[in-house]
Amino acid sequence: MRLLLVEDDGLLGDGIRNGLKQQDFAVEWLRDGQSAANSLLHEHYDVVVLDLGLPKMHGLDVLREVRSKGNAVPVLILTAQDAVEDRIAGLDAGADDYLIKPFDLDELYARIRALLRRSAGRADPKIIYGEIEIDPAAHQVTLAGTVIELSRREYAVLLELMQNRGRVMSRTRLEEGLYEWGEQVESNTVEVHVHHLRKKLGSELIRTIRGVGYMIDK
Ligand code: CA
Repeated sequence: MRLLLVEDDGLLGDGIRNGLKQQDFAVEWLRDGQSAANSLLHEHYDVVVLDLGLPKMHGLDVLREVRSKGNAVPVLILTAQDAVEDRIAGLDAGADDYLIKPFDLDELYARIRALLRRSAGRADPKIIYGEIEIDPAAHQVTLAGTVIELSRREYAVLLELMQNRGRVMSRTRLEEGLYEWGEQVESNTVEVHVHHLRKKLGSELIRTIRGVGYMIDK
């Protein structure tokens, strides 16, 4: 899952980014509103964590611009303790949820999971597909009730394909979810992870769409 964090406070941003990396998100961290708005125009993200008080462009303006372009990416805004008007304006400008600073990181993770669940159209926190069950909160995958050990990157590829069932996911899109922006990606990485996933979860699960990418049927 690829996450954009927009926060100008260095200490807070660093803490959130490190925590989210532990939760297996590929995090891109930007510190001002203008670069966030630009990046949101050109890049795909699964979820955005957006501070409102930002240099160069206010978070609310970033949000309005994103929504005016028809981008429906789930957005969670971070607001100050006493800023009730900001929270109302944020929700009205298209934010999906908010957290008031200071907040507990575990609550941030839970809210992000809920946003991803809703954007995928699921009410059930677990993803169930045939005999495979994925628990995103516990990062656990079972096959017919048996826990299957997956590497973090195998898990990330599986989750991305599962949450987009019926859609072909390009190698590029899957790679983006695996690495932080700017990090080196080896050319056959996704192929290797898919190979391992097939060995662990069954050869029929992930289909290769030649020349395009991979897909799990709906
Ligand atoms: Ca700020």
